[in-house]
Amino acid sequence: MTENIYKSLGVSDEVYNYGEEILASLKDRFQAIDEMAERNQAKVLRAMQENRVSAQCFAGTTGYGHDDLGRDTLEKVYASCFHTEAALVRPHITCGTHALAVALSANLLPGDELLSPVGRPYDTLEEVIGIRESACSLKEYGVSYRQADLLPDGSFDYDAIKKAINEKTKLVTIQRSKGYQMRPSFSVKQIGELIAFVKKVKPGLTVMVDNCYGEFVEALEPSDVGADMTVGSLIKNPGGGLAPIGGYIVGTQKCIDRCANRLSAPGLGQDVGASLSVMTNLYQGFFLSPTVVAGALKGAVFAANVYEKLGFKVIPDGKEARHDIIQAVELGSPARMEAFCRGIQAAAPVDSYVTPVPAPMPGYDDDVIMAAGAFVQGSSIELSADGPIRPPYAVYFQGGLTWYNAKTGILLSLQKLYEAGEVAL
Ligand SMILES: *Cc1c(COP(=O)(O)O)cnc(C)c1O
Repeated sequence: MTENIYKSLGVSDEVYNYGEEILASLKDRFQAIDEMAERNQAKVLRAMQENRVSAQCFAGTTGYGHDDLGRDTLEKVYASCFHTEAALVRPHITCGTHALAVALSANLLPGDELLSPVGRPYDTLEEVIGIRESACSLKEYGVSYRQADLLPDGSFDYDAIKKAINEKTKLVTIQRSKGYQMRPSFSVKQIGELIAFVKKVKPGLTVMVDNCYGEFVEALEPSDVGADMTVGSLIKNPGGGLAPIGGYIVGTQKCIDRCANRLSAPGLGQDVGASLSVMTNLYQGFFLSPTVVAGALKGAVFAANVYEKLGFKVIPDGKEARHDIIQAVELGSPARMEAFCRGIQAAAPVDSYVTPVPAPMPGYDDDVIMAAGAFVQGSSIELSADGPIRPPYAVYFQGGLTWYNAKTGILLSLQKLYEAGEVAL
């Protein structure tokens, strides 16, 4: 019966049976994921109740957006959920990179130095920081940058970090998720240890965590372990697939006040910014996020086990604990990346008939291939896979608004590789 359903979607018996065999071994993992979702659902629900979310919150405002109850209450909900003094949650933050750029440029002044103790940051931040030249980069404004690379096993190089901290160091940026790198993502506990270390070396440092793809994967967030700013995108985890746009920054009042002045204008801060008609989606998406994240995590665990068993290097491996929803699969060739992405695209509810091909993307140095058939353009909490066309030719798979859609995506990615003669089952 189920087999027939998948056959109608283009999955052959061989691929379907291979998948079922793997799934039979994942029951305990899936149960643990469901328990985490239950816990985080309670956390979100309580934050909404505590802040008296009401029907008036969905009305939206126009123009300046003065006294926007929905916007102000949503920011209180985020602050409660992340246990911070303040939050900036706005549709005017266009994407994750924008949220990070606001947080950095608001809290760094000419002569300050930015430190990444976890190696190279996410591709698009290279132009924000000025590692690659770009107009209006932090470098142009006189902010210098230093990084301490991870040790070969992916752990923190505490000696190098200590040496890198100097009298100019002002802000430390920690990326939780691997991004487009074959390194492990960090647990909230590891991030907490790193924050404690840098603040011990230099008290008064501001620490920002790029939390993209990490929200609701664990019981704690970086804001629970000492981050002064925790930053992410609403078209990833916390938007629950319903937010059509937006980003968030949660943290100390001092940092958030500066971020608000940078986002709008000095003196205007958080008081302006009409929410137009997106508030219902931002609330409802946040409410659904813990269960959507759970579905995405099941897809990631399934993908890891399918491709690990076929002999590919996968990060995290099939058994490891998860700290974000991303699954990296090192496929070793552009042709395999394309086949994998064709399968993901073919499983999408939207644009399933198009063929993804590598192309240049603003903010990225290499050509990038992206498979995404999403309700929200580029949304990567929805079923998606992408990767820069560069060695080791890894694809980064994530999302799926439901576990079943994620499952279909993995099965079809395998189907395309199988049909191309790239894997034997
Ligand atoms: C997605 C992501 C970002 C921001 O990317 P946008 O496409 O601008 O939203 C930043 N850092 C990491 C680790 C990411 O995964």
